[in-house]
Amino acid sequence: MKTDDEIIYLDNNSSTRIDPEVLEEMMPFLTERYGNPSSAHRFGRQVKDATKLAHERLAALLGCQPNEVVFTSGGTESDNTALHSALQMTPDRRHIVTTSVEHNAVLNYCQTVVSQGCEVTTLEVDDEGHLDLAELERAIRPDTAVVSVMWANNETGVINPLDEIAAICRAKGVALHTDAVQTVGKMPIDLAGKYLQFLSLSGHKLHASKGVGALYVNRNSKFHPMIVGGPQEGGRRAGTDNVASIVGLGKAAELAASTLEEENTRVRALRDRFEETLLAQVEDVAVNGDRAKRLPNTSNVAFLGVDAQAILIKLDQEGVCCSLGSSCTTGAVEPSHVLRAMHMTNERARSSLRFSFGRFNTEAELDRVLEILPRIVSKLRQLAPAAG
Ligand code: PLP
Repeated sequence: MKTDDEIIYLDNNSSTRIDPEVLEEMMPFLTERYGNPSSAHRFGRQVKDATKLAHERLAALLGCQPNEVVFTSGGTESDNTALHSALQMTPDRRHIVTTSVEHNAVLNYCQTVVSQGCEVTTLEVDDEGHLDLAELERAIRPDTAVVSVMWANNETGVINPLDEIAAICRAKGVALHTDAVQTVGKMPIDLAGKYLQFLSLSGHKLHASKGVGALYVNRNSKFHPMIVGGPQEGGRRAGTDNVASIVGLGKAAELAASTLEEENTRVRALRDRFEETLLAQVEDVAVNGDRAKRLPNTSNVAFLGVDAQAILIKLDQEGVCCSLGSSCTTGAVEPSHVLRAMHMTNERARSSLRFSFGRFNTEAELDRVLEILPRIVSKLRQLAPAAG
């Protein structure tokens, strides 16, 4: 078994390593600066100033106002809150439009409100992972409370045309929420002047800590909190602030702004070299999802005829971390709902792995993976040749 130091981490869409600069900014708030930001004394005010700075830094990354940022416990809470708020603010509208490739934080929330009498239209995607915008337009009804479409998909990296979607929602007068958990920090974002009511993000996807995230709430949109209690976050999310993590997310946002260029060049080049080499050197390999309109760091690859779980286990033994394109519930491997929604056979979905690159990956790591991975695939094919 490899030690943690020897790990090659290609699972950055699952979670990222906390950046050392982020950790450094967090530490005082886990130790000597333990005041409550709501306290009226100087000790509390210092902490309040730090959370204020975090609002400003995140707002700068998003191109919005600091008071449009509401800190939450993560992407899941942000997604739930956006949909909850939209439904609460328009009690006469009981319909949601979403897509079949959303994260479960959206899909399962929708299922819950269906059991409470709401209706949900779940739009299909094509083989490449794209929505049909004409279908989206047709799906919006007079009683639609909100359209929820992710900006970029966590499994394939496929990017939705948010501006075009926003134009449709604006024309129909319906609120728009986007799950940008995988987008923030990987693509430039400028919300100024955009038609968008809610945007979700998560700290641990951009080198901050787990258990912190944010919801952008457009200052012109109505809002109804999901968690009620104290007046924190302008009355939009009650509960004493998770100060250290909020401070960390602010710093991570500042760093993300300065590394975006790198994400789009160096990280993209790593991902592209990975795919080009596999496609050239390994037989029966296919990339899942539209390769052009994709996040720069994500690669979802099918090794046709080979069980992806077996590859993942062998990679793990060699110290390489990636993700299955499927979810494991109670021991049974279910093909990923995203790949199935892209009309993939169960067999192809079960042969697919997601590799997600990040800031800390190196060329040397990639060389090593490109030596290990083809060898593993070829060995597994020899052991269990695909049925003719
Ligand atoms: N939305 C997307 C697209 C995600 O990838 C994730 C995490 O994997 C979430 C939401 C949930 O975020 P969190 O883990 O912060 O609750």
